Amino acid sequence: MTRNKQSATVFILLFLASFYGWLWFYTDNTWMKVFGASLFPMIGAAISIYWFIRPYRILTIKHRIFIILMKIGLSLHFLSSFIWLVNLLIHGDTDYPAVSFIIRITEYMFYFIALLYKLKLLYKSLSMGPFLFNILIFMIAAISISYYYLIDPIIKLSSDYQSIVPVFVLFPILDIGIAFLSIYIFYMTRYTEEYKTFLFLTLGFFTQIIADTLYLYLLVSGLFETGTIVYPLWLLAILLIGFCNFYVEVYEVEKKWHSNSFLNQRDSGLLLNLSVIYLAFIVLQSTGWDWNALKIGLFLSIIVIVIRQISIMKKHRMLLHNLWYHAYHDKLTGLFNRASYLKDIESLITFAQENQRKFAIMLLDFDRFKNVNDTLGHGIGDQLLQEGSVRLKQSISTSDRVYRVGGDEFIIILQDATVDYCKEVATTILESFSRALTVGIYQISITPSIGISMYPENGTTYETLLKNADTSMYLAKSKGRNQFEMYSAELNQEIARKMQLENELAQAVSKNEFILHYQPKVDLQTGKIIGAEALLRWEHPTFGVIPPDEFIPLAEETGQVVSIGNWVLFHACKQLIEWQNNGFHHLTMSVNVSVRQFQHKDFLNGVKKVLEETEVNPRALELEITESIMQNIEDSTRILNELRKIGINISIDDFGTGYSSLSVLKSLPIDTIKIDRTFITDLSKTDIAMVKTIMNIGLNLQLKVVIEGVETEEQLTTLLEISNQDVFGQGYLFGKPVTAKEFEKTLN
Ligand code: C2E
Ligand code: CA
Ligand code: CA
Repeated sequence: MTRNKQSATVFILLFLASFYGWLWFYTDNTWMKVFGASLFPMIGAAISIYWFIRPYRILTIKHRIFIILMKIGLSLHFLSSFIWLVNLLIHGDTDYPAVSFIIRITEYMFYFIALLYKLKLLYKSLSMGPFLFNILIFMIAAISISYYYLIDPIIKLSSDYQSIVPVFVLFPILDIGIAFLSIYIFYMTRYTEEYKTFLFLTLGFFTQIIADTLYLYLLVSGLFETGTIVYPLWLLAILLIGFCNFYVEVYEVEKKWHSNSFLNQRDSGLLLNLSVIYLAFIVLQSTGWDWNALKIGLFLSIIVIVIRQISIMKKHRMLLHNLWYHAYHDKLTGLFNRASYLKDIESLITFAQENQRKFAIMLLDFDRFKNVNDTLGHGIGDQLLQEGSVRLKQSISTSDRVYRVGGDEFIIILQDATVDYCKEVATTILESFSRALTVGIYQISITPSIGISMYPENGTTYETLLKNADTSMYLAKSKGRNQFEMYSAELNQEIARKMQLENELAQAVSKNEFILHYQPKVDLQTGKIIGAEALLRWEHPTFGVIPPDEFIPLAEETGQVVSIGNWVLFHACKQLIEWQNNGFHHLTMSVNVSVRQFQHKDFLNGVKKVLEETEVNPRALELEITESIMQNIEDSTRILNELRKIGINISIDDFGTGYSSLSVLKSLPIDTIKIDRTFITDLSKTDIAMVKTIMNIGLNLQLKVVIEGVETEEQLTTLLEISNQDVFGQGYLFGKPVTAKEFEKTLN
């Protein structure tokens, strides 16, 4: 390459010298001089084109476009001289043809476009808008300056050339454009490997501009004479343009363009500002009030600058908006985010303080959300959050705001909220989640737990408000989830109790603090006791008897429900054997099984083991489950079928309170339904109709029906009117849950 460069340099020098020699030698022979003046540039252009071939081969397509444009320019140079030569040879005409003039202008246009294209490549992904404005401003400045100092004097100097003014104007304008762009590119590439390539290209263009200016000056002042210094200068320009290709190196080009183009774009304003400042400066110097090229140029530049600033401002405003949006919104759900919450809550507290206003914050978290992520994957988990967010947004009014502050944690700010309003909103939210969410092919039931704290009653700083909402939510969760809790001072005590219970629950079995109570199940028609339901009690050393509603959810949460459940099953079965041994052979035993216990992988084996150890007849055993096992319908059905194969009866507890009740009947293998006691508490007309309908459906499906919570004779009478055999009852009327000893007494 170095050798090529050297020989090219030697060639350029020799070729120029011979051209100059030729022109000097034939000073007096116009024909021969024109012959040389047209032939040398043709050879020069051809060689220059030839030098462009190597980069064309090694560069990528987008860089090739630049080369193609340059090559077209050089070919036009060739063509203009060729026409001149042909004109000479055929017509003996030595004058430079007008066509050649026009072709040369086109040639300059191609250079100009090529440079523009190159600059665009350097700017790459950056927007072209401001860049084009900058070029426009510089051009206006440059043209007005050159018009004022160069073209105008030339025209004034020689009125003969008025007719070809457009040509005179076009040349300098294109020259200025080319000069500007090539300097600009040279400036942008100054720290890259392309530095030398564009140094020579810029040198080439400047030589051309000097030649053009000189030509123009000589022509107008009448000093021009074919064969001046101008021709070799033009030739030198063409050769320098070709020569730049010796510095093209492919790898560096790609690499550096990527690394540097971004940095350099900050400099783009420098040249521009200098040009306008210079223009302003010389305008101040030019005297008189009448319009001249400089003033027009300055005026136009200022207009363009103003337009540019407006467009930049617009763009900035849009960027700022985007920035703001991303800073305060959650990417996944589009809800407001934590930062937004912190900002809002602070200003809201200040506002509420100054104006004696109230507001509430609601902390919401989806129950067992981790399960979804763990079993269905994070993709589904994310979609579930999105769907959940939509539902949340739909359940609150437009004046309230919902924020996503963590994984599955949301905060809702309720302005001017009263206790009733909070309850109302919380209820609406809970209701809206009673329908399963559709995520892809899944129907997922997810429930929220909500904790609410109010300003100023429950706290005056955002920390305490959040802490108290969190405490309330914790309580809502420990009470069995899918509910809301409002903060109160007593709640803290309640929480403390919960925590203590949770800690002590683990030892309750070993400390023998659990005891089973039994509640009779009777035949409604005969009133005879046919079985018992085992109900667990915790006899706590300090708190006294704790009902299962309070500690079963805790045990579920911690997983202890599995071992506790085994304990219950074992003791209930042993009790049944004892009673049967005492002569009550017909008795059955119902045992409650929680979802978590049922879904535990060892559940089935645990049941089998208890059956073996106690030797209880499986047909006398009934397991009570709730319809929440529907969440995992396939596994549940399999386990239920296994249990029934052994001979165990399955009953659905609290039937009618869930939302999937009827589909439970269709899809699960069960023996009994226990109608929840809420249906018969007041026994209004609709309730009676409901009980009757459920009873009939159950009986039609050959299921036994147990009606829970019978407390009064009145209820019994009504029930007897609508029921027939195979309907059983349970409730305080027939017997409260009591100890085994007392239960046995009622049997006699
Ligand atoms: P459940 O299975 O629906 O049990 C019936 C509940 O209703 C019992 O409350 C019982 O005392 C109460 N009850 C019975 N008849 C009447 C009546 O006429 N009026 C009223 N107002 N209530 C009546 P308890 O014993 O407090 O049990 C509450 C819940 O705790 C049970 O509801 C059951 O879901 C759960 N549970 C109890 N023992 C166990 C257990 O060993 N394991 C599991 N997993 N859950 C249990
Ligand atoms: Ca039960
Ligand atoms: Ca029940």
